[in-house]
Amino acid sequence: MVKAIVGANWGDEGKGKITDMLAEQADFVVRFQGGSNAGHTIINQYGKFALHLLPSGVFYNHTTSIIGNGVALNIPYLIKELQSLTDRNVLDRKILVSDRAQIVMPYHILFDQYEEERLGGRSFGSTKSGIAPFYSDKYAKIGFQVSELFDKEALLDKVEHICEMKNILLEHMYHKPLLNSKELYETLLSYRDMVEPYVADTSLILQNALKEGKNVLLEGQLGTLKDPDFGIYPMVTSSSTLAAYGAIGAGIPPYEVKDIIAVVKAYSSAVGAGEFVSEIFGEEADELRRRGGDEGEFGVTTGRPRRMGWFDAVASRYGCRMQGATQVALTVLDVLGYLDELPVCVGYEIDGKVIKEFPTTSLLSKAKPIYEILPGWKCEIRGISEYDKLPEKCRNYIEFIEKQLEVPITMISNGPKRHEIIHRQR
Ligand code: GDP
Repeated sequence: MVKAIVGANWGDEGKGKITDMLAEQADFVVRFQGGSNAGHTIINQYGKFALHLLPSGVFYNHTTSIIGNGVALNIPYLIKELQSLTDRNVLDRKILVSDRAQIVMPYHILFDQYEEERLGGRSFGSTKSGIAPFYSDKYAKIGFQVSELFDKEALLDKVEHICEMKNILLEHMYHKPLLNSKELYETLLSYRDMVEPYVADTSLILQNALKEGKNVLLEGQLGTLKDPDFGIYPMVTSSSTLAAYGAIGAGIPPYEVKDIIAVVKAYSSAVGAGEFVSEIFGEEADELRRRGGDEGEFGVTTGRPRRMGWFDAVASRYGCRMQGATQVALTVLDVLGYLDELPVCVGYEIDGKVIKEFPTTSLLSKAKPIYEILPGWKCEIRGISEYDKLPEKCRNYIEFIEKQLEVPITMISNGPKRHEIIHRQR
């Protein structure tokens, strides 16, 4: 049985915490898209961790962590992240890397930086992890699969060919130092040695495991609104953030994904540029940012302050619908206990017309939020573990959101720790 844990918003919804929690019952946890460009914060018995590439199930002995074929694999980064776990006594983990995963090359990272420099004020706010150049090359069919590292002759040939191509851009477009094919080849051989112990046909392993009735979790990165097709294009990421892509990025049949948990944040936050209808500014935003997450709302990878906003029911309902959510985990609700009133964006006004369905980016840029104001509950809800023990006004907020989302809220996260969760009957 396969469960997907995916974001319904702009990312940073707390998927890492939910995955870490649900991985208790999982045999495999799989990353299926993205790379080391966004992070998950996890707080458990080993301490606090920021994972970027490894799946959040890595803290359990009984789970196998898989980097699926859909991921942008930065090999030195993977090794560094594994080392950081070993350093903190998270030992002997079972890690597998798909032999079909493609490799983030050193020049992808350089091109990411050079392109952002070239674009100046029109940049995409990239985390400069090489993700956009990586996926561009993958689909231009000039990427490197992990499996290619093991055929030395063909590898050298391809490296020379790619360097020729890349050097034209480096010389004439970016005016930057050129690549040396011998050096790049040596680097790739060192990557081969680093990754070799983990390489496997992970698709076959997962499909066999499913036949034996094992439990698999797919862990998404970012959220619906950063999906290249259904997000706020072009201010999106370069791989699909949708549960549907989980089947491809993990190499399993689509019908195996039976349960899709959309993680929805109780307010809005976003990193990078792009349309954000319910965004708030000034002192109001600063206060929510300071109180948000477990130590304020700052990017796990970049440390950038996140943009803040009220709950956007239009975007979140769409976010759940495009994920095909079967249930919702509503997260970071505890943070809102200081507010007298909670505005919820229930519609967009575009050219004098009110709409309830999330539009394309060009229309979105004209949208003004329509708010409904709900009363705050004005108290601490951390430590509460039963739904009925929550203050009535807090339950009203949850139930209001549930109605807007049109998907049952089955989990409410009221603190960053693994067991700070309230389960609710469907
Ligand atoms: P992800 O990328 O979706 O896993 O999300 P991040 O880890 O980037 O961001 C979520 C942040 O919220 C992290 O700092 C978490 O520790 C924190 N967090 C998750 N759930 C809760 C919660 O219910 N309450 C509070 N206060 N913080 C939470």
